[in-house]
Amino acid sequence: MANSRQDMVGISVKNPITGEEIGVVPNSTREDVQAAVERAQDAQLAWGAASVEERCRVIRQWGDLLWENQQRVMKIIREETGKNDAGAFIEVMGLDNYIAYYAKNAPEILRPKRRQPIFPIIQYGRVYHKPLGVVGIISPWNYPLALSMMDAIPALLAGNTVVIKPSEITPYSALAAADLAYQAGIPENVIQIVTGDGATGEALIDYVDMICFTGSTATGRKVALKAADRLMPISLELGGKDAMIVLADADVDMAASGAVAGSYENAGQMCISIERVYVEEPIYDRFVAKVKELVSQMVIGAGDGLDIHMGSMTNERELKRVEEHIKDAVEKGAEIIAGGNRRPDLGPLFFEPTVLIHVDHSMKVMKEETFGPIIPIMKVYNVDEAIRLANDTEYGLSGAIFTRDLERGERLATRLNTGDISVNRTQAVAVSVDMSWGGHIHSGLGGQRGGTAGILRFTASQSVLVDTQIGSKPGLTAIDPTTLMFLKLIRLARRYLPFL
Ligand code: NAD
Repeated sequence: MANSRQDMVGISVKNPITGEEIGVVPNSTREDVQAAVERAQDAQLAWGAASVEERCRVIRQWGDLLWENQQRVMKIIREETGKNDAGAFIEVMGLDNYIAYYAKNAPEILRPKRRQPIFPIIQYGRVYHKPLGVVGIISPWNYPLALSMMDAIPALLAGNTVVIKPSEITPYSALAAADLAYQAGIPENVIQIVTGDGATGEALIDYVDMICFTGSTATGRKVALKAADRLMPISLELGGKDAMIVLADADVDMAASGAVAGSYENAGQMCISIERVYVEEPIYDRFVAKVKELVSQMVIGAGDGLDIHMGSMTNERELKRVEEHIKDAVEKGAEIIAGGNRRPDLGPLFFEPTVLIHVDHSMKVMKEETFGPIIPIMKVYNVDEAIRLANDTEYGLSGAIFTRDLERGERLATRLNTGDISVNRTQAVAVSVDMSWGGHIHSGLGGQRGGTAGILRFTASQSVLVDTQIGSKPGLTAIDPTTLMFLKLIRLARRYLPFL
């Protein structure tokens, strides 16, 4: 629910393509945030006490409503981001997959599990997964629906309530999704939206029981420091500089289209965008020619339909960084073989899909997160050089390897210091909900999205051991003679009974 105080200074949200104001949302104060968290605490009692199956039922209904209303939701996403239809659909589809996966698997993942206590037979143990309470979610603008709600799904199913602070640049997608949640029967205080800027996000950290942050590494560091004061659990999903490696035996057409689709989705404003490509020398020329050919076929613009391959960028800040990275690279010897210019004829924030060659690691475009539509391609002379360069970064989010030798590709993937790698695809792990993913090094901390880990990060595990009282009674010391005898017997038995 949007904060209802109308008297405070609001935040004007603009359509990046037309520059027109879409609306004004409240810039929620510390008091607003505190009140929202208090309401969420109260609501958590009933929500957390409901069965997991009951929570799955309403979340599924929410998913169905989102799916039925996808055109309306996609319009809202596109209005505030400037992305194309395909990009907006990716958000709806991604969220729908999350809902389907967790609504199916949450009961089993969260079920208390039997564990072996020190004295089998006379004792038994179980691990419980308890909700943390109120989870604060702070999200960025590049996938305003998916990244506000994807983490909310497992958090809610685990029995938490959530207070979400979407990016001040794109708050309406989250507000629309929350409205549908209420229509689906999720109580208003179980999922709340507090709109606002960074100060609202900071305040949220002061009141919730866990913070789940997605955004830049610089802000993530501030969030971690603030959360450390409260010794609270955190999950940080941060920036990236993903590499793609194309080995000499790769299918050139497939690798080139992988680079194009993987770099220009959402005009490159994706944490797991392919931001640099290393190609082995024998196929370098063919790969570069194919990428150039594909880029020449791309349609960019503000229109509807899947035949618009790239939309607008969302902020002037990112567009300026794109220009800065291109300028820096060209000054250091890079060559632009496609794109390189703004397209004011299409809208104020359109930028052409751009390809750079003759790049090296002295250039910003190979080391710093660009977050824009650039493919810098570098020739390498062997696979060791490719791996070394791919790992030459502070980031460790995702990446891709293209090769016909699948076993080698999988083996090489494990040499890259990233949370996930796809072989012969790009960004394929992020959409495979059963596979957990999350950044290494400065790309993430404290949790992963997807799979079992993606829901357990929103729980506190508690182990409960029950002694049946049929064994020895506690004596005056921890190790009395009977206990000692049992321990020795167990030790001996372990040699012959491996299940012990
Ligand atoms: P950002 O860090 O500027 O902002 C993210 C969110 O944090 C916004 O809601 C913002 O209002 C809030 N915020 C700002 N200052 C804060 C503070 N001091 N305390 C608490 N909250 C604060 O990031 P952005 O520009 O919105 O998003 C782009 C960045 O996000 C890129 O670096 C991208 O790689 C990263 N990202 C990462 C993932 C991932 O899953 N790893 C996904 C998408 C985007």
